[in-house]
Amino acid sequence: MLKFDIEKRDGLARAGIIHTPHGEIYTPAFVGAATRATVKALTMQEMRDLGSQAILANTYHLILRPGTDLIKEAGGLAKFSSWHGPTFTDSGGFQIFSLPNVKISENGVKFKSHIDGANFEITPESSMQAQWAIGSDIHMAFDHLAKSESRQDMEKAMHRTHAWLDRCAAENEKLAAMAHKNNEPEQYLYAVVQGGIFNDLRAESAKYCASKNPDGFGIGGVFTADGMAEMLQTVNSILPENKPRHLLGMGQEPIDLFDGAENGCDTFDCVGPTRMARNGSLYTLDGRINIKNSKYKHDFAPLMSGCDCECCKNYTRAYLHHLFKTDEITAKILASIHNEHFVVHTVDQIRESILDGTFKDYKAQFLSRYYSK
Ligand SMILES: [Zn+2]
Repeated sequence: MLKFDIEKRDGLARAGIIHTPHGEIYTPAFVGAATRATVKALTMQEMRDLGSQAILANTYHLILRPGTDLIKEAGGLAKFSSWHGPTFTDSGGFQIFSLPNVKISENGVKFKSHIDGANFEITPESSMQAQWAIGSDIHMAFDHLAKSESRQDMEKAMHRTHAWLDRCAAENEKLAAMAHKNNEPEQYLYAVVQGGIFNDLRAESAKYCASKNPDGFGIGGVFTADGMAEMLQTVNSILPENKPRHLLGMGQEPIDLFDGAENGCDTFDCVGPTRMARNGSLYTLDGRINIKNSKYKHDFAPLMSGCDCECCKNYTRAYLHHLFKTDEITAKILASIHNEHFVVHTVDQIRESILDGTFKDYKAQFLSRYYSK
């Protein structure tokens, strides 16, 4: 069983330590979205330098390219990518169910590669095998994402997710036994709570997932921004306290990180911060700015004063503005360093505030300034 120590609680919020075979994660923590075994525009050394503790890769993308056998041959995701620290994999359900020609059955999903048209099939069993081959420390169970937000579709997707969880857990047990026999490192399974925007379905899903006794939990699917805190309250009041919980794909807006942590989530991942960075949309404590705006042409202040990332310590807004205007690759690199540092650091500060009992003050002060405009 994955070891998780809780150091301090504040209501549903907690600060803790997840112990993985590749090292510790001090939670709450923002996990870097390394979809194709890389965080876009950033090297793993830059990720370490900006304070990232863990990365999350996407099984669907790695199955297509370079193939999971190649990653196994390389010694697993951490070694292949030169990250070396703790790693998560998402099952890829979210991406697969968004494909145009996906065929879904009780058994699994069939789809054509968007790269070369080759046929692929992913089942709960093959998703587990792929994640074990990738060698991530923490795997997400293969879940079904509803095709619409209707209650009927959400309920159907939830029941299928539960049936698939049974199969993921059975396959995971086999693969874990095999790894144990071969003296290979342990890998861990998170069940994924579904139920969409309906809190009674979320409660039912949380109970079901908890009954399977996984190592931890992913909270996935779609939810509305204003309903998220209440949904997390429902789910995390039901999930066992002593196991870690990962909020899947959320964290572009600082309020989601605060609400997530306040309501009992331990880790987060989101492609949003680096995606926005590549478009010149950059976090500051006073809200996001678009550095391409002409008002920054002569602005020789750092992007965010007080930020100790490589970008803010060394460069000015005017320089970043110039790099974006001339479409230099360095623009995307420096912007990504800052935005990723911002979310990682914000969640680190949330952790500190939980530890010293000042979370609510920190949340109120941060959000009132960030969203003041
Ligand atoms: Zn910065």
